Amino acid sequence: MVLEKELEFRKEVVNGAKKIYEKGLNDNNEGNISVRFGRKEEIFITPTANQYDSLMVDQITHIDFEGNVIGKGKIPSTETKLHIALYKARPKVKCVIHTHSPYATMLSIVRKPIPIIMEEQVVFLGGSIDLAPYGEAHTEKVGEVALKALNKKNGALLSNHGVIVCGKSVVNAIKYAELVEKLAKIYWGALQVGTPIMLENENLEKFYEMYDRLFSNFPKK
Ligand SMILES: [Zn+2]
Repeated sequence: MVLEKELEFRKEVVNGAKKIYEKGLNDNNEGNISVRFGRKEEIFITPTANQYDSLMVDQITHIDFEGNVIGKGKIPSTETKLHIALYKARPKVKCVIHTHSPYATMLSIVRKPIPIIMEEQVVFLGGSIDLAPYGEAHTEKVGEVALKALNKKNGALLSNHGVIVCGKSVVNAIKYAELVEKLAKIYWGALQVGTPIMLENENLEKFYEMYDRLFSNFPKK
């Protein structure tokens, strides 16, 4: 039985999961989405072997920051350590999404970070999308390297693996996951036809200011 106070959080995970699936960012059995349980050191996350198209609230796994399952529920995703590392480091983060979206994953395999190519990238993600070195998916290391690649930003690529994003809301995190994939596709396309020109930081001040004010979730002190 699902407790009433948990229900809205479980629903947020299910609805978010269905959105990233519908947008083609993850297929069944890959990636994951989690939501922080209010102010607690606990999260709700999609289960291992997740079937996005038939996912239901009682299949969402409730775990604490040590990775222990609370109550009954399916085994959590093997990548929970990645999610927990972000929640621990960034108290403002409400939602973490990990995808294997194709264009971003392609760039992660040829180990190409995405430089600043569009203004919206700065506004929503905080700048370039950097690349975390390879870290085995189910280990602590993947969290460490992801945090380093994220730096103060909202999204990063994981070498030979995919994408990690985090946001102050589920809506924001979905937006970031989509935007990383869109930028990866655009950058990939631009590389096919010429040499991409990066935007200059000196012209981006107002966009950095918008990022800091509206979307950054990196602790200020
Ligand atoms: Zn993965």
